[in-house]
Amino acid sequence: MQCVVDIWPPPCGPMAHGASSAREPCHHVSLRLGIHTSIAGSLERSALKAAELGANTFQIFSSSPRQWKASVPSAPSVALFEKARKRHDLVPLVIHDNYLINLASVHEKTRDLSIQAFRGELERAIAIGADYLVAHPGNYKGQTVEQGILHFLEGVATAAQGLAHGKLMLLIENTAGAGAQLGSRFEELHVMREYGMKMTDLPIGFCLDTCHLLASGHDVSTTSGLKQTVNEAERLLGLENVPVIHANDSKTPLGSHVDRHENIGQGYIGVDGFRRILTHPGLRNKAFILETPVDQPGDDRKNLDTLKRAARGAL
Ligand SMILES: [Zn+2]
Ligand SMILES: [Zn+2]
Repeated sequence: MQCVVDIWPPPCGPMAHGASSAREPCHHVSLRLGIHTSIAGSLERSALKAAELGANTFQIFSSSPRQWKASVPSAPSVALFEKARKRHDLVPLVIHDNYLINLASVHEKTRDLSIQAFRGELERAIAIGADYLVAHPGNYKGQTVEQGILHFLEGVATAAQGLAHGKLMLLIENTAGAGAQLGSRFEELHVMREYGMKMTDLPIGFCLDTCHLLASGHDVSTTSGLKQTVNEAERLLGLENVPVIHANDSKTPLGSHVDRHENIGQGYIGVDGFRRILTHPGLRNKAFILETPVDQPGDDRKNLDTLKRAARGAL
């Protein structure tokens, strides 16, 4: 007898597995579906908001994403945050890095500022108890791709020097490939991890964004395109190195190289696309996190509900 996920959250967590062990093993894992929430007000509020929306994982910025200045949150605010996460089973915790950071920049001054800011990202992620820090590899304008990648990795290694990173893992996010953006090709991401692991002991994995995949030419909207994309990810990245997927539909078509997130099911990936992505056997154990626009009040909850239905195959 196979175990079918027909309610959410799934009934058989690790504790329930014993009951079915005499028969066929239960193949599904606990689904992790979540959303990016704001830390405006307090860190704790971001966790409570995620729980209130029905998420069991979430992503935050650890400071304002468009400012260089940031400070490490106080111990009491981290304690309240951890308590809320525990109470609501919010795992994993993902932090997205600041938009201003460009470790790959050709300009030394920008790189220096970026390294300082990225060091701050790592310090806050560790202090807050994050599992993953998602970072964009940056923009290589004025250089070759190889020089850009080298600058990015040197920046990561310098920023991480001497830090006790604990369980924190850096996830390099794939991009739409607009202009001189690094990281839209799996080959580039592959090289970043291969060389990066020799330059720093900070663990390195990947975050794949479904909107960026489509925009960069990976057709995750079709059955055959998804199969090809997952196979390519397996071959070049290793699926075990991709713990987090950003679940965003795309306002722009396949290969547009434009990064515009759309509500789940309303863009070029569509409802069928998301049902196939969420039920793909190779992706079941990933944490799916929404970064969809909130144009109308309630859009966040609606998108999360849509993800849950997609994961049940009921979309
Ligand atoms: Zn993303
Ligand atoms: Zn994006």
